[in-house]
Amino acid sequence: MTAESASPETRAFETEVQQLLHLMVHALYSHREIFLRELISNASDAIDRLRFEGLQDESLFEGQKEGRITLRPDPDSGTLTVADNGSGMDRDEVIANLGTIAHSGSQAFLEQLTGDEQEDARLIGQFGVGFYAAFMVADRVTVETRRAGRESGEGVRWASDGSGSYTVEAIERPELGTAITLELKEDAREFLEAETLRRVVKTYSDHIPYPVVLEAPDAEPETLNEASALWARPRSEITEEEYRQFYAHIAHGDTEPLAWLHFHAEGTTEYTALLYIPSRPPMDLWQPDARHGVRLYVRRVFITDQARELLPTYLRFLRGVVDAPDLPLNISREMLQSDQQVARIRKGIVRRVLKRLTEMAESESDRYRRFWENFGAVLKEGIPEDPSNKEELAGLLRFRTSRRPDEWVSLADYKAGMREGQQAIYYLTGDDLDTLRNSPQLEVFQAKGVEVLLLTDPVDEWVVMHLTEYDGTPLTSVAHGDLDLGDLEEKDSEATEERETPAGFEGLLETLRERLGGGASDVRLSQRLTDSPSCIVAAEDALGEHMERILRAANQPVPESRPVLELNPHHPLIQQMKQIHTTDPNDKRLEQWGWLLLDQARLAQGADLPDPAGAARRISAMMDELAGSGPTRIIT
Ligand code: ADP
Repeated sequence: MTAESASPETRAFETEVQQLLHLMVHALYSHREIFLRELISNASDAIDRLRFEGLQDESLFEGQKEGRITLRPDPDSGTLTVADNGSGMDRDEVIANLGTIAHSGSQAFLEQLTGDEQEDARLIGQFGVGFYAAFMVADRVTVETRRAGRESGEGVRWASDGSGSYTVEAIERPELGTAITLELKEDAREFLEAETLRRVVKTYSDHIPYPVVLEAPDAEPETLNEASALWARPRSEITEEEYRQFYAHIAHGDTEPLAWLHFHAEGTTEYTALLYIPSRPPMDLWQPDARHGVRLYVRRVFITDQARELLPTYLRFLRGVVDAPDLPLNISREMLQSDQQVARIRKGIVRRVLKRLTEMAESESDRYRRFWENFGAVLKEGIPEDPSNKEELAGLLRFRTSRRPDEWVSLADYKAGMREGQQAIYYLTGDDLDTLRNSPQLEVFQAKGVEVLLLTDPVDEWVVMHLTEYDGTPLTSVAHGDLDLGDLEEKDSEATEERETPAGFEGLLETLRERLGGGASDVRLSQRLTDSPSCIVAAEDALGEHMERILRAANQPVPESRPVLELNPHHPLIQQMKQIHTTDPNDKRLEQWGWLLLDQARLAQGADLPDPAGAARRISAMMDELAGSGPTRIIT
């Protein structure tokens, strides 16, 4: 079958795309000019791609080495065409790219929509569903494209009116690259005017590295943008506004950057970097296939946006450009991994970024707080990942604490607030702040006025495994091992006298150890509790209950371990148990209550019950007993 005789095939959009298109057509009215930024940005990416592919095979350029984006308004037909001489697409790519949402977080995107036009427009840009933005201004969109390297007969035409379906057909296409033609809506004819196009291109696309040329009927071609690589210009000549616009281009969004660094390094390795810290997390920050945000250029030729070697993963939130003139243009993935220069660039970037963050933490606390709330959990990964910068990273950490649950406390702040004689920086890990704040394990710390770091990010478990001390003071879990508040207790003599450990519990503990052996590795009296009857703690060498839960959730093997049950000898319930034991060590209630103490200690720290059915049985057995013994017993 020849290209001319094939009839168009009609295909339905993926559900998510349909939802998105609906949104484009109906909701996002006031910001619709961003459609042009999105199409130009895609065109620029396609030219980048071809320039990279052309490094191996010059013939792909078909004689047009200079990248170029053209805008062709046609008032007669009411259409605007955006064309590029980039890589183009073949049929499969057209269907995959323009019929589905390629990124796994598409559902997340739709869920994040707020109904607020400005906010949703920002999300669209940031998420990179850019192409579909064309339907904000067009009743019908036609894409004609040919993948570079194919014969001219192997072009593809894609067309849709933005409702449920689109068509694809084979076409004859001599031109290189892609042309996207928008049949503008009646109320979007302003995008045929040179004045509007000039303004919109200047605003959003001034610094893409290729010329955007206006080819209006009856006028000379006119280049609308600066078309220079912003990063290659000296810092002193660049305005804040220009930095912001460039960010909007590379971050595919119009949101403000939180901060940026622009520097040129010379010496053994020469490179220029322009790096931005976003003001909000990208949607895919926590996805394993998250986009890589830093593009590598060699003498302004785009090489790749997949140079993961340029950044450690704990800085994956950065967006920007690195231009390294001494790298070979044809650098391959394998070379990137082993290249000494790349390793040096990475080291240099890490150093600069950490320095910038340290300065921000010192002198711009509001900005740093915003940084930390968005990216702190990512930066923390650096502690286990990058031992060579551990000290610097430790200085950047911020925590909620038992004494200051609404603040972000640094380790230095914590140390400054330590009680005299306090030997360690104490911490407790768990799922959420409220559970931690109410945890029985904190009781004695509250009573003695000792601050405890409350760690709720999953990564925190790894952080504390690798950060065993800060500035000479050890970090100690309050939920592990035998608690020793050492000097602190002696100093607080009044409290200790009053709370001297009562004697005579040995028999009870021994009995409980025997009976609860399957659930607790040990039963002992607690130094941690003031109000609660019991709590569980991990044995000194165990992972800890929270860590075990994280591993289980990730389907990782968890070593068999049983917690230690600690009892509060000052609690009336425990004292009553001692009484019962003295009267009859074989009294059934001891075992029954022991299991209940174990269950409720687990619940109090937000843990799962290993045997919920058994726990329920024990509770109803106890209720039965109480009911059976009549109302007087309950009341007294
Ligand atoms: P994004 O650009 O964020 O990936 P888009 O919906 O804007 O999302 O585009 C989807 C994909 O379609 C692009 O990633 C690219 O592969 C392809 N594409 C879009 N426009 C062009 C173009 N002008 N030339 C070549 N490919 C294009």
